[in-house]
Amino acid sequence: MPDDTPVRWQPKRNQPPPPWPSPPLLIAVARGFRGRCPACGRTPLFRGFLRIAPACPACGAPLGRVPVDDSGPVFTIFIVGVVVVAVLLLMELTMRLPLIVETAILIPLTVVLALLLLRPMKGAALGLMLRLGILRSEDEA
Ligand SMILES: [Zn+2]
Repeated sequence: MPDDTPVRWQPKRNQPPPPWPSPPLLIAVARGFRGRCPACGRTPLFRGFLRIAPACPACGAPLGRVPVDDSGPVFTIFIVGVVVVAVLLLMELTMRLPLIVETAILIPLTVVLALLLLRPMKGAALGLMLRLGILRSEDEA
């Protein structure tokens, strides 16, 4: 007779804490959003526009092993899409501008918003993942 009791996932409670500082979740996300190391907040997170530093020189947090990949662009697209569509709808409903004027407003708005949000979104995602302990294994990084 098969056992029908559901299997419940249990977190690993006896893992040792990481050797780098582990601030509260919102602080780690906010530090990443500001482009600082999510663990200690003392050093820059990025080396270049979107390249992540391999490790924090101050606290040793393995920033390069956090698999942020495309999460920055994904969150940026979500936010920019909502803002641009909202502006488009407001312009259509209230101003009735010619199409060329709407285009001349919305395309620069989209580009500027995307460029402004890419780094903060990638940093915030990295802060969240580092705080939650989501890391690539050392041979993958
Ligand atoms: Zn650090």
